[in-house]
Amino acid sequence: MAMSGVEIFKLLPKTNCKKCGFPTCLAFAMKLAQRQADISACPDVSEAAKATLGEASAPPIRGIKLGLGDRAAKMGEENVMFRHEKKFVNPCVIALNVADTDDVAARAKNVASSEIDRVGQKLRVDAISIEFKSGDAAKYEAAVKAAAENAPESAVILNCSDATVVDAAVKAVAARKPMIYGVNDSNIDAMAAIAKAHGLILGLKADGIEAVMALVAKAKAAGVEDLVLDPCAKNAREIIEMNTQIRRSALKKGEKSLGYPVLSNCVREDSMVEANIAAVAVAKYASIVLVSAVERWKNLALFTLRQNIYTDPQVPMQVPQKVYKIGEPSAEAPLMITTNFSLTYFIVAGEVENSKVPSRLAVMDCEGLSVLTAWAAGKFTANKIAQFVTEWEEFKEVANKELIIPGQVAILSGALEDKLPGWKITVGPREANGLPVFLKSRAA
Ligand code: SF4
Repeated sequence: MAMSGVEIFKLLPKTNCKKCGFPTCLAFAMKLAQRQADISACPDVSEAAKATLGEASAPPIRGIKLGLGDRAAKMGEENVMFRHEKKFVNPCVIALNVADTDDVAARAKNVASSEIDRVGQKLRVDAISIEFKSGDAAKYEAAVKAAAENAPESAVILNCSDATVVDAAVKAVAARKPMIYGVNDSNIDAMAAIAKAHGLILGLKADGIEAVMALVAKAKAAGVEDLVLDPCAKNAREIIEMNTQIRRSALKKGEKSLGYPVLSNCVREDSMVEANIAAVAVAKYASIVLVSAVERWKNLALFTLRQNIYTDPQVPMQVPQKVYKIGEPSAEAPLMITTNFSLTYFIVAGEVENSKVPSRLAVMDCEGLSVLTAWAAGKFTANKIAQFVTEWEEFKEVANKELIIPGQVAILSGALEDKLPGWKITVGPREANGLPVFLKSRAA
C-alpha cells in the first residue's frame, strides 16, 4: 500500500540538510509520496528505511521490458487512472498475431516495415506474436524462426499453451527475451520453468480477474516476477470493465497481484471491428494490444490514438525555434512564419513540401502552442514576431523581405507592417492545406 508523505517523513533523517535538492525532509517526503522523487537522492537515509520505502515507492504496476535493445518495449510503471492527473508512462505495445499456418515470413515483413514518422516521432507495430495452430511442433519452431528473421528488431511473443512446443521453439529466440503467452492453470509449472531458465516474461491467461490473481500467485511462488495479465475479456465492454478494475485495484487498493501490465487480445475476423476493439484497449489501460492484421489505415488510427494518449499533457510537443529550409530555397524564396507546436510545424512543413516550392518556414518559440492559442495567450503578437524577425540571425540571409503570416492571425498584418519597416506582410491561407495552391499560384 502506498505510504503518505507524513509516514515517509517519519523514516527520513529529519536534518533538513537539503542534499536531496529539497529544502526540508518533509518537502522531500511529499515528493516521494507523489512518486516525483527517488529515495536514492537522500544520502543519509538508513538501509532499513530504504528497504521499507523502496517497497512502498515501487511503481504500483511493475515495469517490464519486452524484447531487447533500443527497440525493447517498456510496459507498466503507470501511476494514474486518468491521463490528466499526471501522464501515462509507457505507450502500449501493438502486436501482430500470426498463426504458424500462415505465411509468417511475409507477415513479419509487414511488421518490420510498419514504421511511420508522425510529428517527429517514430511509430510502429512493436511486436509479432506467433500462434500455435498447426498442432505440429516443428512447424511452430520454423514459424518462430521465420518471424524472428524477418522482423529482426521486433519483440516476440510465443502464443502457445503447449509447454513442450514452447520449450523447443524458445531456444531460437530466447536471446530476444520474448514473452510466453498462453500460460494457464494446467501448464504454469512447466512454463514457469522455461521462463526461469531463459529469463522470460510469462503472459498469464485465465477466465476472469480472480483466476488471473490465482495464476499470479502460482507464478510468483515458482519464482517468476515478470508477468503480463490477460483476464480474457470477450468484448469491448469487458475490456473496459476488467482493465479498469485491474488498474484501480493496483493503484488505489495496492493489490500487488494485479500490479502488472495487461494484455488485451483484440483479434477479430472483421478488421473494422478489430480496429474498434483495439482502440478501446489502447484507451483503457492495455499494455499489449493483440491484432490479427496491420493494414496501414488501422495502423495510422491506432498509432495516432496511442500517441495522443501517451504524450505528457503538461509538456506541449514542440520543435526548436529556427528558420527551417524546405527544399533548397534561394534568398528570394517565400518566407512563412508559424509557431513551434509540433503538430502545427509538421502539418505546415508537410504542405509546403507538397507544393514543391522551395521555401523558408520561420518557427517561433511560443512554448509549444498552436497559432490561435499562442495569439490568444499573447505569445504570437505583432511585437513578439517583430522582435523575432529583427533579432534572429537566420533572417539576415533572407533577401525577400516579405513575411507570410497564417490566415488565422490576419488581424496582425497592420501592426506588423508598422513594427517591421521595409517588410511586406502577406496574409497566407487560414488552413495549412491551402498552402500548396497559395504557393504555386505565386510561383507561376
Ligand atoms: S537529503 Fe535526506 S536528510 Fe537531507 S533534507 Fe533531504 S531528506 Fe532530509
